[in-house]
Amino acid sequence: MAEQNKKKVAVVTGASRGIGRAIALELASRGAAVVINYNGSEERAKEVQKEIEEKGGEAEIRQWNVADFAACEKAVKDIVKTHGSIDILVNNAGITKDGLLMGMSEADFDSVIDVNLKGTFNMMRFVSRQMLRQRCGRIISMASVVGNLPGNAGQANYAASKAGIIGMTKSAARELASRGVTVNAVAPGFIETEMTAVLSEEVKKASAAQIPLGHFGKPEDIAKTVVFSGI
Ligand code: NAP
Repeated sequence: MAEQNKKKVAVVTGASRGIGRAIALELASRGAAVVINYNGSEERAKEVQKEIEEKGGEAEIRQWNVADFAACEKAVKDIVKTHGSIDILVNNAGITKDGLLMGMSEADFDSVIDVNLKGTFNMMRFVSRQMLRQRCGRIISMASVVGNLPGNAGQANYAASKAGIIGMTKSAARELASRGVTVNAVAPGFIETEMTAVLSEEVKKASAAQIPLGHFGKPEDIAKTVVFSGI
């Protein structure tokens, strides 16, 4: 009986702000116990936890760097020890280090690949073992429209990381589907967060002009799409 009433446990990486925050709030509002991962923004993560708890939901914050293989292994072990399962993993943590290809530093290429692509691999690598044991689970990773159709000048590193996530998602889906674990990716267009706040007004205007609705989306729009694949 207790098992039947157990809340689904959802891990959302990079949930201290932006799209990850909106996903954490949406999952909690649907009854999941949410693990809010952050890297540096502890105070922001605490605010998300508080917001969830004030609405009657369950949440905890945990710091780790998704680019760190060993830290991801430890985080997954600790979460399973505390909660007994991981039912939903949302690989949302991501960064940009934009620049034209000819001038892009090795460090800027590596850090974007390390956080966005390798971070997604690290988490899937350890969480999928647990989900296979459970014979059920949902993994949703945050790609981007730039990894798919149009590309974007100045984002060779970012577009490569997001295209990589799409390829990895398709392969992982084939490996895990027969054992009740689904793997999907969501590829948002431009969304109003701190990631896009740094763009110049000129770029924002040109980007919005490519969007049929003529304006950037909100983090809540993406949260609903993620939850549709995850619950
Ligand atoms: P954001 O506002 O900049 O937030 C990024 C989040 O990722 C923060 O919570 C940050 O935590 C976390 N993070 C960064 N590096 C991390 C690391 N090494 N380990 C753990 N967490 C880390 O970004 P956003 O716009 O919400 O984007 C979220 C995701 O959606 C990203 O994967 C992004 O590529 C993707 N996306 C965004 C857009 C858009 O237009 N905004 C469009 C398509 C896809 P700390 O603050 O603690 O560092």
